[in-house]
Amino acid sequence: MKRWLIENGIFAELSMERQTFEGWMSIEGGYIAASGEGEAPPEIRDAAEEIVNGKGLLFLPGLINTHGHAAMSLLRGLADDLVLQDWLENHMWPMEAKFTGDDVYWGTSLAAAEMILSGTTTFVDMYDHMDKVAEVASQAGLRATLTRGVIGLCPPDVQTAKLNDAIQFAKEWQGAADGRIQVMMSPHAPYTCPPDYIERIVAAAHELDLPLHTHMSETAAEVALNVKQYGARPVEHLDKLGFFSRPSLVAHAVHLNDEEIALLAERRVAVSHNPVSNLKLASGVARVPDLLRAGVTVSLGTDSAASNNNLDLFEEIRLAALLHKGVSGDPTAVPAAEALRMGTLYGARSIGLGDAIGSLRPGFKADITAVSIDKPHFFPRTDYISHLVYAASGADVAHVWVDGRQILRGRELLTLDVGRIRYEAQRCFERLRG
Ligand SMILES: [Zn+2]
Repeated sequence: MKRWLIENGIFAELSMERQTFEGWMSIEGGYIAASGEGEAPPEIRDAAEEIVNGKGLLFLPGLINTHGHAAMSLLRGLADDLVLQDWLENHMWPMEAKFTGDDVYWGTSLAAAEMILSGTTTFVDMYDHMDKVAEVASQAGLRATLTRGVIGLCPPDVQTAKLNDAIQFAKEWQGAADGRIQVMMSPHAPYTCPPDYIERIVAAAHELDLPLHTHMSETAAEVALNVKQYGARPVEHLDKLGFFSRPSLVAHAVHLNDEEIALLAERRVAVSHNPVSNLKLASGVARVPDLLRAGVTVSLGTDSAASNNNLDLFEEIRLAALLHKGVSGDPTAVPAAEALRMGTLYGARSIGLGDAIGSLRPGFKADITAVSIDKPHFFPRTDYISHLVYAASGADVAHVWVDGRQILRGRELLTLDVGRIRYEAQRCFERLRG
């Protein structure tokens, strides 16, 4: 792997006291090797195989999208402005039932191109045909935490086949693509998986030593149904099934009471907050300031492009900073730096990679996003963290590195053929629509 030197750049480092500094950073063997203010030492400059002039660029840890269904990019714009159950049962599921591995491959490729172009370096994905998603992540050079999500509303033999598929995927792909691919186990949601099926998935996660992921408490109706069916709200229900005995990440967690927040904190459960998706489907607003105050790790996810409708994590970061001010009436709720940590550092912690990515500290993986800050909306040069959260968008991303390998250069995708992807995604959609 190439030895890089980035010089004359501005670096955002949210895990340290000093949040931004002007200077240099070296990359070696896929890791951030060293950094400092001002000029790089001559020996580092001499050793570099490629030097990036960082003038006019702001470097931040690559963004981490902790919940999504990349292949659903094929369904973007197909059914908007509907309530979740209608949207899911009458529009998404009938189309998704027709998805082949080829559709998943091209839908995920479309998502991968969009994610890289908007500065995301790691994504969590829950879907079917996961081997295709893994192939795309591997080819695109992205880092990914992948899970073959299973819906248990089917006969026992089909349940078993799906679980075996998820186990097989884990065995094949955990640690693949030079370690960039990690695997989790996922019941789709407590309302789509009977309790005994969830227990079997938890047992498999123990066996394989993998974390768990699920959708939880996304709508008030889902919580009410859980109480009616099982006599407990989803958090208590999952806890009883042993779900939180594994490292776990739950998506949405919109409808929580105080006891549930305390329990999530106690069990060290991470939450993927998906503000755009929750707003679009009118699911409600998650109690993010209360979760953060309780010590819960809260990260950000786009959910799929069918309920967002883009995968620009800068939008989630900005909305996480704005939304909770609006609903709480407290403009100090979720400050800019905290929102940016949710999109980087806390995202890393949510998937068990808190010591490896999400920060630009030396020793961390070189997953780096560079934003072009020569545009008018980045002036005057006051507070770079503020600019990143309140003024930037994914369209400002210029370069991206993952594992020390550059995958976007001057907005040119180096690992994906975007022309082909556009063509194939349209072709897949036409076939699905029938
Ligand atoms: Zn989802």
